[in-house]
Amino acid sequence: MMTTSTGALTTRAEQLDAADPLRAYRDLFVGADDPGVVAYLDGNSLGRPTQASAERINSFVTRSWGGRLIRGWDEEWYDLPITIGDTLARATLGAAAGQTTIGDSTTVLLYKLARGALALRPGRSEIVVDRDNFPTDRYVLESIAGELGLILRWIESDRRGGVGTGDLNAVVSDRTALVVLSHVAYRSGYLVDAAAAARVTHNAGALLLLDLCHSVGSVPLELDAWGVDLAVGCTYKYLNGGPGSPAFAYVRAEHQQDFVQPIWGWMGRDNPFAMAQGYEPAPGIRRVISGTPSILGMLALQDTLALLDEVGMEAVRAKSIALTEYALDLVRDVLVPLGVEIGSPENAAERGGHVIIDHPQFETVVERLWQKGVIPDFRAPQGLRLGLSPLSTSFREVCAGILAIRDELTD
Ligand SMILES: *Cc1c(COP(=O)(O)O)cnc(C)c1O
Repeated sequence: MMTTSTGALTTRAEQLDAADPLRAYRDLFVGADDPGVVAYLDGNSLGRPTQASAERINSFVTRSWGGRLIRGWDEEWYDLPITIGDTLARATLGAAAGQTTIGDSTTVLLYKLARGALALRPGRSEIVVDRDNFPTDRYVLESIAGELGLILRWIESDRRGGVGTGDLNAVVSDRTALVVLSHVAYRSGYLVDAAAAARVTHNAGALLLLDLCHSVGSVPLELDAWGVDLAVGCTYKYLNGGPGSPAFAYVRAEHQQDFVQPIWGWMGRDNPFAMAQGYEPAPGIRRVISGTPSILGMLALQDTLALLDEVGMEAVRAKSIALTEYALDLVRDVLVPLGVEIGSPENAAERGGHVIIDHPQFETVVERLWQKGVIPDFRAPQGLRLGLSPLSTSFREVCAGILAIRDELTD
């Protein structure tokens, strides 16, 4: 039963925007006023570009690349993966300097970090991972298990929830070498209690590798304080780095000296320009690097890091919770009566920055929505995922998007 009129719902959304302390940040993004995009609800798959990035990329081509040419490597680029890594660590990861670098894709970094971690736990035979983890995470670990003759110990997690501390406790043992979890589940949005997961993992003598793709830039992180051993994450989602922008890797300082990743390249070697015989890993986090990093690819994310640094992750999280709470209220009001089900945790403390809703018609509905400029993501089997990037999404957009879904289901 629909109790509230479209006009009243829109007015309410406009009031929430007017009261939003972060509302002005939305105007800093390219396309925020594009009338062809009614509601961008997929900033967690591909974040919008900032206007600052458009200028930064242009200036990089004309001044840095075009002007400094090969000298740019000596003057700035060689250190950039580490200096941006340090900024990312400070602004978003709750991590001290010297533990984070930018480069490769999340998939490749996951491989490198998992292999490096397993080498730190020789004689242990199992890797723990959950069935509902993102496909690339599962595939990479399947490949490593095959390569090294290890066993994958699967957690059968709830599709609408995620991996709870009890689930983890039930599977880790003195055979466990490594636990790999997504901090925020890509489908349900379930938020893992990372400090508890680290405790359970460490009590078994194993290492914890977190995938932060759906948390970085959306959920405050305290990697150092939580005791997380290793982490990877994307920069093209909530960090707006652009399609295919390189990922980041975190290796806790205490593990670095013994950490050896499997792709030995010259750029991760100690003193690479000596062109010497034999591989000697560079000191510190630089040893995670293999070949020449994509400098062009790591330009745009710096602009979002600057915004996050300015706003602070607590304020970002407050807006994020307000957006997901609002979206779920509206879903209960106008979509649940039409047979839609909520596939995300209803308790905000257990939820990241997106929500997913299920309906058998959503696979066809999503195509029609995209044509109308309402852009959520479809996630099989029947989910519409609403990604509410805190700095670039308005309440008005959420309202327009959910009302458009209602119209598709009632037309
Ligand atoms: C988006 C995402 C990835 C993507 O990995 P790529 O190597 O960038 O394709 C990996 N893991 C999770 C959990 C993701 O959400």
